Amino acid sequence: LSAKSEVLIEKENKYGAHNYHPLPVVLNRGEGVYVWDVDGKKYYDFLSAYSAVNQGHCHPKIVGAMVNQAQKLTLTSRAFYNDKLGNYEEFVTNYFGFDKVLPMNTGAEAVETALKLCRKWAYEVKGIQENLAQIIVCENNFHGRTTTIISFSNDESARKSFGPFTEGFIKIEYDNLDALEKVLEASNNIAGFLVEPIQGEAGVYVPGEGYLAKAKALCEKHNVLFIADEVQTGIARTGKLLAVHHENVQPDILILGKAISGGVYPVSAVLANNEIMNVIKPGQHGSTFGGNPVAAAVAIAALEVVKDEKLAENAERLGIILRKGLNEIAERNNLITLVRGKGLLNAIVINSDEESDLAWEICLKFRDNGLLAKPTHGNKIRLAPPLVITENQIQECLQIIEKSLNHFRN
Ligand code: PMP
Repeated sequence: LSAKSEVLIEKENKYGAHNYHPLPVVLNRGEGVYVWDVDGKKYYDFLSAYSAVNQGHCHPKIVGAMVNQAQKLTLTSRAFYNDKLGNYEEFVTNYFGFDKVLPMNTGAEAVETALKLCRKWAYEVKGIQENLAQIIVCENNFHGRTTTIISFSNDESARKSFGPFTEGFIKIEYDNLDALEKVLEASNNIAGFLVEPIQGEAGVYVPGEGYLAKAKALCEKHNVLFIADEVQTGIARTGKLLAVHHENVQPDILILGKAISGGVYPVSAVLANNEIMNVIKPGQHGSTFGGNPVAAAVAIAALEVVKDEKLAENAERLGIILRKGLNEIAERNNLITLVRGKGLLNAIVINSDEESDLAWEICLKFRDNGLLAKPTHGNKIRLAPPLVITENQIQECLQIIEKSLNHFRN
């Protein structure tokens, strides 16, 4: 590491809370699939800010929309109307096929919003007795960091010493339809089923084919809301606009964040039809920044880029090429035991255990060779470049990955 990087890292460590463990690299510029460190070294970004930068770093159309709007009006709060929000709401609801949107800022806020919305629907529409509603969640989920959300996490380090927790959640095994059916049949107080179409933080765990469609059908049968958290999987990441589209599922409540703004500005959204969304009345939920004119302008631009540049198609096609290349590397180097993923949301599983530091060491080697990725576990590395990546770039990245892994072969 250069002296310049060391100084900046020390500063973060001294003055910032230690709530992250960043890979030691200090970035100051990004463009498309590339980021540069403070010494001018260029890297492929294979994290994309946890799939927020699907449209590529500093996309000129999205940045332009932000700058233009920021020079005119940035924030009014929802105490007043602004001239951008309605247009955005019309655009985003048509784009995803829902009646209404509730605009927020971060993924976790949108998840919280969806949970509140689901509960209110359960009491006011479904007729569950007040305070008895239960929401089904999945083991190994990741939905964010608020106190309510960690109430149903099973990451012990994310929960330890943060209690007491919020009640009203039933946890079942992911990718297990029998478990879902059993819970749905056992109680009349189930309001919703909150699910990630692919579990990203769990190490890009892809459920079996048909799981989402069948889970949706079970929910429908029991008048339970199917709530899809597409914060990480949405916005073309998995090769379709939404990961649920692989199984032709339209969720009752859709949660979006991250790439809805191309990583340019914090924007999140909860979408639902009138029967559900209309249970929320003035004063019952909100956010000072949610739905601000900059967010509205940025999100329209970011979503237009997804369609104009055919990012879903690109992710689908290049994901196949990336996994094929990774599987070929796995044949030559038995350090990779499994390649999994959909579109450009992928992971390699390394021949070690979840507590090992091998995946971290490999990521340091990737960094040395010009590619940035981050482990989800001691034995799993997520590989998720911006969706604007080209086939030639994927081939170059495969070479970097193989060269780096070969360093560890015994
Ligand atoms: N849901 C999912 C599926 C996520 O992957 C994440 C972030 N990794 C979140 C919610 C939380 O989003 P945020 O960090 O913006 O709060």
